[in-house]
Amino acid sequence: MTRIEEEKKTVRQMVEIYCKGHHHTDSGLCEDCSTLLDYAFARLDHCKFGEKKPTCKACPIHCYKPAMREQMKEAMRYAGPRMLWHHPVSAIKHLIREL
Ligand SMILES: [Zn+2]
Repeated sequence: MTRIEEEKKTVRQMVEIYCKGHHHTDSGLCEDCSTLLDYAFARLDHCKFGEKKPTCKACPIHCYKPAMREQMKEAMRYAGPRMLWHHPVSAIKHLIREL
């Protein structure tokens, strides 16, 4: 799996946890969260660092639009601690990379 694919998987898992917890969707994502996820995927696809990119947190270029960034920050804040419970392996990998 490439870095970008792996990052997409992590982002998807985080948005899913957030959506489930906040918007009480039974399966899949609500409209807002699918928009957010599509946006995040598009940003990853267009990331000029490609496979060499650092995590977005460490990235010198903040390419998210402010509104999307706020939404993503909120989702990450909520999902971050819960990732350890739901998806220990990818969560830990993500955290290690953040360090
Ligand atoms: Zn949602």
